[in-house]
Amino acid sequence: MDSQKRAVLEKQHYKIIGEHSAVKVCHWTKEEMTHDRGCYKQSFYGIESHRCMQMTPTVAQCSENCMFCWRFQDFEEDHIEVEDDPKFILEGAIEAQKKLMSGYRGDARVSPEKWQESQMPKHVAISLTGEPTAYSRLGEYIELCHKAGMTTFLVTNGTNPEVLRKLDPLPTQLYVTIAAPSKEMFTKVCAPIRSNAWEQLMDTLSLLPSLDTRKVIRHTLVKGWTLGFENQYARLDRIADPHFIESKGYVNVGYSRERLTMRNMPSHDEIHEFATRLASELGNYELQSERRDSRVALLVRKGVNRWLPGLERPLEEELRYNLPRNRQPAE
Ligand code: SF4
Repeated sequence: MDSQKRAVLEKQHYKIIGEHSAVKVCHWTKEEMTHDRGCYKQSFYGIESHRCMQMTPTVAQCSENCMFCWRFQDFEEDHIEVEDDPKFILEGAIEAQKKLMSGYRGDARVSPEKWQESQMPKHVAISLTGEPTAYSRLGEYIELCHKAGMTTFLVTNGTNPEVLRKLDPLPTQLYVTIAAPSKEMFTKVCAPIRSNAWEQLMDTLSLLPSLDTRKVIRHTLVKGWTLGFENQYARLDRIADPHFIESKGYVNVGYSRERLTMRNMPSHDEIHEFATRLASELGNYELQSERRDSRVALLVRKGVNRWLPGLERPLEEELRYNLPRNRQPAE
């Protein structure tokens, strides 16, 4: 990675590991530490935000330049020239996470037990920035995470179906983003590097039913661009047949402010309406949970248990967040 890019990322509190990986403590990890308020994936699936390690093996590689992306982009390539060893990346990531969290020791808002737990990450969110499937040793990396007793969420833009086809093992939960309802809109909103990116995404959607893991389709919705079109999204979702569909409103933060405005942010009520209409188009999904503070709603395929394997139904989370919409945590 060139030194200028490294300097920008370090200024933004990324801890760079080796040549192409990075860790950054998630906002929700800090919120759960200090205010017992985890992210929506804690509410939806039961991960523990204070034990989540947000990282990427591809801090400078992506096959798209999405207009809604709030991360520092400046992506020049979608492959890695010289790849670091997965063990080196995982050890470096855990070490960095522990160090980044060490400042909470003695914080009056954080119990000693919680601090201790935060020093032992239990969940790896491979999602920080970039397109992680550009790292050819991703399977080895995921295997190391699982061997260390950690669950994994992998977020991909779906433009590398060949990598997903061969990925072994698969992550605990695989996210594929469908950020536009048509090729024309996708090309404008996601600005892919390759001309066949939409066809590759379609290939990934067709592949998903055969992958033996928990699968999520995420719709990132930009008002004035990609919000609406429920019947077109439903057509794509039917191909993928995921366990879960997250409808998430665009948030006008970070670098996305250079391309979009506050007017492009859907309200939570608009997201709720989108998810309700999508569920009615699909027929076999139900709206099970939502988080007003993250402008996100969760559809679950009927009969699917949304909690991560091995988890009891986290009743406390249910009580805290599955409240009537007017009593949810403030935005
Ligand atoms: S799952 Fe994602 S949002 Fe939740 S704490 Fe981890 S990195 Fe943050």
